[in-house]
Formats: sequence, C-alpha cells, structure tokens
Amino acid sequence: LAKKAGRSCFRFYTAAIQEKASRHLQLVNALRVALELQQFSIHYQPQLAMAGGQLVGAEALLRWTHPELGNISPAEFIPVAEDCGLILQLGEWVLRHAVRQARQWRDQGLALVMAVNLSAVQFRQPDLPALVARILQEEGLPASALELELTEGVAMYDPQQAIAVMNVLHEQGVRMSIDDFGTGYSSLNLLKQFRVYKLKIDQSFIRDIVTDPEDRAIVAAIIHMAEKLGLLTIAEGVETAEQHSWLRAQGCNELQGYLFSRPLPADAFAVYAQQHQPAVALLGS
Ligand code: C2E
Ligand code: MG
Ligand code: MG
Ligand code: MG
Repeated sequence: LAKKAGRSCFRFYTAAIQEKASRHLQLVNALRVALELQQFSIHYQPQLAMAGGQLVGAEALLRWTHPELGNISPAEFIPVAEDCGLILQLGEWVLRHAVRQARQWRDQGLALVMAVNLSAVQFRQPDLPALVARILQEEGLPASALELELTEGVAMYDPQQAIAVMNVLHEQGVRMSIDDFGTGYSSLNLLKQFRVYKLKIDQSFIRDIVTDPEDRAIVAAIIHMAEKLGLLTIAEGVETAEQHSWLRAQGCNELQGYLFSRPLPADAFAVYAQQHQPAVALLGS
C-alpha cells in the first residue's frame, strides 16, 4: 500500500513539474512576440508625500494581456523574461515609455518623479548608464525626474560592478531606491556601499503593522535607521487608515498603496493627479 501511495505521489509530483515546465515554455514563446504585437502596457501607481499628501511620484508597473492566456502578472512573467534574456528588450521598452509619459505629463504641468523597476539582469549590463542617459536625452526628461527601483539582488552577482554602475548613474543625477527593502540578503551592506536615495519598505512588513509587534519593531527600525543615514522612506502596500497613521507617527516620508490608489492606466492617472496637485505644479514651474 505504502509503495502504491508513494508511486502515485511521485506521479503527481512529476505531473506538477511537467505542468510548470510547459507553462514556462508557453510563456517564453508568448513573450518572444508580445512586444511586437503590442501586448504590453504600463500602469502607474501614485506615490504621496506623508506631509500634505501631495502626489510626488508614480511607479511604472508593467502589464501584459495575452489574447488567450489573459492578464499575466509581472510577478510570474518577469522571472521568465529574466531567464530567457528577453528582460533586456522589455526593460528598455518600459524605461523608454515611462520616461516619455513623464515628459508628456511635465508638458501638461504635472511634474513628478517617475519610478521604474529595474531587473538585476539589466543592472549587470555595463552600458546601462549610457542607455539611461540616451533615453533621458532623446525623450527630454531631466535625470532628477527619474528614479530606478532596484532589488537587493543587484548586489549578489558582482557587487563591485554594481557599485560602479550605480556610481555612474548617481553622477548622471538619477536617483536609486531599494525595492522590497528588508526581504533580500544584503540589505545593510547595500546601504553602506551603494548610492541609495530611498528605501521602499516591503509590503510584507506593512501588512500587519497595526497588530504585529515584530513587524512594528522592524518598520520602526528601518525608518529610524534611514533617517540617520539621510535616506528617504516610502511604505509600500498601505491599505488602511490605521497603517497610514501609524506610519505618520513613525516619520515615514512617503506612501504608496491601495488606500490611495491602485496602479492606473495613464489617462486615469492624469485624472487622479488633477485631484491631488503635486507641489511643483502648484508653484507653477
Ligand atoms: P514591486 O515593484 O514591489 O511593485 C509593487 C507591487 O505591489 C505591484 O504589483 C503593485 O500593484 C502592488 N501593490 C501596490 N499597492 C498595493 C497594496 O496596497 N496592496 C497590495 N496587496 N499590493 C499592492 P504588480 O504590479 O503585480 O508587480 C509585481 C512585481 O513585478 C513588482 O513588485 C516588480 O517586482 C515586478 N515588476 C512590475 N513591473 C516591472 C517592470 O517593468 N520591470 C521589472 N523588472 N519588474 C517589474
Ligand atoms: Mg517596485
Ligand atoms: Mg516592492
Ligand atoms: Mg516586489
């Protein structure tokens, strides 16, 4: 009996692996043509200042709608694109279009910082700073209006090279933030050696801050450490007024989450922005 159960268990296991492998292959093939077929779009999620609540930034989040497979989450397809190398082309597409959108909004009097997620694979390209500079120049956006969101994984492969790339980007005037801060392997080491501007406190720490004393301790420590290091903090995944007020009391600088807005298509974002005038637009520049 045990043998039989063991065997069917094994069969189940291999079936699951096969299913995963074939989904992977399906996505690789679909990704290869998705750019050409214009299946990608970008949604923008508002980032607000704690003080005053003004809109200060937008995070560009990639969206993929496949005609048969439907909407596929970036959490699923980004790792696939990284595996098969397509992330370089895809990442460049996101960067160009997000920068272009930021420029268009600027022309309409809506000045914000555009935050773009960067894969560690993109970050390993020695010509990344040149690519960023070229896109900013061609699209006409000042470097100070761009923020690159990196994960802690950037430091894992070749830390020295990552530091060099970051130094060049910093000299170009581009800001860099650490995404999902606290979930990676080398958070503190990163802070010491890298040109970091802002920490994005991962939403897994924010979720239970109202009730979980450990999460509260971790988030409070991150905010206070950032303050001492001269870094800004933004809380990700803020969903409730209670989380908002606790973060305010701790001195967190910025907020992002469903409490304020979900990621929105560009036109809906512009409507949202009209109701939350950014500070710079109010000054008329
Ligand atoms: P991320 O960069 O940490 O982005 C935040 C994610 O949290 C987004 O998921 C956003 O929609 C979601 N989110 C925002 N507010 C809330 C909230 O209040 N509650 C909850 N439960 N979730 C919230 P999304 O858009 O599905 O993206 C998932 C991940 O995929 C991103 O995490 C990022 O790592 C990656 N990603 C998305 N677009 C790109 C891209 O253009 N390039 C790269 N390399 N990665 C990307
Ligand atoms: Mg991000
Ligand atoms: Mg994040
Ligand atoms: Mg994430």
